Amino acid sequence: MSSWRSARGTNTSQATSGAVVALGLASGIGLVTGCKAPPPLVDHWTATHAICQPPDPFVSPYRAEGFDEEACHEAIAADLGLDEASFEGNAEAEATRSNLLEAAYQLLGRPLGSVEEARAYADDAHWVRTSFVDELDLMAEELGTDDVRALIYSTLATVVATTRYWSEPIDHAGAGYSFRRDELAVTVCEAPPYCSFSLVHEAAHGWLGASHVACPEGHVLEEGWDYSGVVACDEDWSTVWGLQAGVIVLAYQSVVEAEPENQTTARHIEYIGRIAEFFILED
Ligand SMILES: [Zn+2]
Repeated sequence: MSSWRSARGTNTSQATSGAVVALGLASGIGLVTGCKAPPPLVDHWTATHAICQPPDPFVSPYRAEGFDEEACHEAIAADLGLDEASFEGNAEAEATRSNLLEAAYQLLGRPLGSVEEARAYADDAHWVRTSFVDELDLMAEELGTDDVRALIYSTLATVVATTRYWSEPIDHAGAGYSFRRDELAVTVCEAPPYCSFSLVHEAAHGWLGASHVACPEGHVLEEGWDYSGVVACDEDWSTVWGLQAGVIVLAYQSVVEAEPENQTTARHIEYIGRIAEFFILED
């Protein structure tokens, strides 16, 4: 066990399960069973990025050009270990497959800056925390690049050995990650930009080897968002929600910089910060 691993979470408890919904947009996440250390990171980004050649810069908040090539779909499907049979047989599963590949394509192409830039940017107001940047440093050490999108994409592709469609509803969530099988189960993936952040959430579970803790009684954000006793919260910013929030804010920040007049994007960042603060119990 190399030294960086010990810097990660030490949670090795068995078979807890958690469920959360992310962003209130059917892009949920989180049924997690068991915990274990992830395998060494493998660079999946360089080859797939070369095949897909997403637009550069890729800052549209919506569907990007260039996501039409079959070779690109195949490369992403291979990176995620898509269990093709599970996505066949009905329109919903097939649509989920298509959106899932596009969500991963967003992670492949969307600029997230460098680790150094993330560190310079880290402060509490922006929900990009130093603990998140510390994780990026560990990934960068293994992968030999400081391109944050490459780190996140390769981490996702490393910790997810298999991705399959899950026709049963996952409690409060659109996706789940099994540590035992290194498997990503996806039941909902409707809007690729948001679904991409669900993928980041699941990758964070795999990378950190961390599940969630129970939210306290009375943990209600708004009507319909009662998480009392649900295993969906994190104790502090160093784990799953903190990592997810960091990536999302960096992603939206690149849109804000490209389109300074885009107030919608700025509002998204505020909303994400509010969601992260809800699920992270630390003040
Ligand atoms: Zn989760």
